[in-house]
Amino acid sequence: MNIHEYQAKEILKSYGVRIQEGIVAETPEQAVAAAKKLTEETGTGWHVIKAQIHAGGRGKGGGVKLAKNLDQVKELADQILGMTLVTHQTGPEGKLVQKVLVAQDVYYPGDSEPKEYYLSILLDRAKGMNVIMASTEGGMDIEEVAEKSPEKIIKEWIDPAVGLQGFQARKIAFAFGLEGEAFKEMVKFVSNLYKAYLETDSSMFEINPVLKTSDNKILAVDAKVNLDDNALYRHKNLAAMRDLSEEDPLEVEAGEYHLNYVKLDGNVGCMVNGAGLAMATMDIIKLSGGEPANFLDVGGGANAQTVEAGFRIILKDPNVKAILINIFGGIVRCDRVANGVVEAYKNIGDINVPIIVRLQGTNAEEGARIIDESGLKVYSAVVLKEAAEKVKQVLAQA
Ligand code: GDP
Ligand code: MN
Repeated sequence: MNIHEYQAKEILKSYGVRIQEGIVAETPEQAVAAAKKLTEETGTGWHVIKAQIHAGGRGKGGGVKLAKNLDQVKELADQILGMTLVTHQTGPEGKLVQKVLVAQDVYYPGDSEPKEYYLSILLDRAKGMNVIMASTEGGMDIEEVAEKSPEKIIKEWIDPAVGLQGFQARKIAFAFGLEGEAFKEMVKFVSNLYKAYLETDSSMFEINPVLKTSDNKILAVDAKVNLDDNALYRHKNLAAMRDLSEEDPLEVEAGEYHLNYVKLDGNVGCMVNGAGLAMATMDIIKLSGGEPANFLDVGGGANAQTVEAGFRIILKDPNVKAILINIFGGIVRCDRVANGVVEAYKNIGDINVPIIVRLQGTNAEEGARIIDESGLKVYSAVVLKEAAEKVKQVLAQA
């Protein structure tokens, strides 16, 4: 689960990681009030207005602006709130900005040497360890740094049995060329950041940039946090940070039925039980000349209700020209799935895309019979290849 920058910063702060202070606002008036409050609390005269969307690259897209007085705070908040922000991470359709973070300006006016660094923590699955990635090339697009000068990214793997060691945090501070107070601050920053990452069960932390101010403070100017969905049950306060308006509505609906659904760009909707079978099905759709419109794993316990919910979700995607249902009846019996399909078809009504159903396993023949006798525009197939051929035929006719 992704969260907003302002929420990520709340987490960091609670772990003693210094941040660029800010207050979230939903209207220009709130932004002005926030700016006044920040001036009282931090003494800042200037403020940055930062669009809060679940995507990076906001600065380049015009979603991060500096305001030098309260009139500008109001003007810029008014401009950014409600804008459709397009960045390299949002896709061409962009994202609607509903909140801004009014933050203290930490690049002090006249500060000739603000230095930006890059820090991230994520799980290295191949090594089975968390890894801290650090670079002196902060503030830049890290993918670009990785491509053009990979030697500028250093990696520090953390043995889960012993945790982050002091020398590792110091190694990063050394690599940044820091000394004195800034060095100590950085060691503390890295240690606290790692603790926050671990204790929140996160799968990614990315702080870009980490800033060293001219008075040797180290602070997080940006914060991107991805929390592990599977651990949210033990972090009620973090689960509450979910912003459904930032997520794909179809994926949200699928989640309510415990369906694993990922929207894709193709034209063949598919409903499958089991993630491995779903991937094999997507492969065979491609082989037959189609493009999968989604990944949908209805899970092992699929019943008429889940099948119907899956149908509705797939059909809400206007690109879908055919649906392939591929179920292996193990725990779930094929006749039950077939009944579910027929029922869903009747309940939803007006389904004018062809549906190819391939049922295999327990009670497969009975399942096929139910579908054939239903009189609906549903094609049954027994082997996957046959199902793929049918998809090809119906796509050719579409
Ligand atoms: P991103 O573009 O989505 O990664 O958003 P960031 O939070 O990283 O901000 C983008 C850029 O805005 C940063 O790299 C900074 O150059 C600039 N920025 C952020 N905070 C401040 C600030 O307090 N003062 C000034 N002058 N610039 C800032
Ligand atoms: Mn950033």
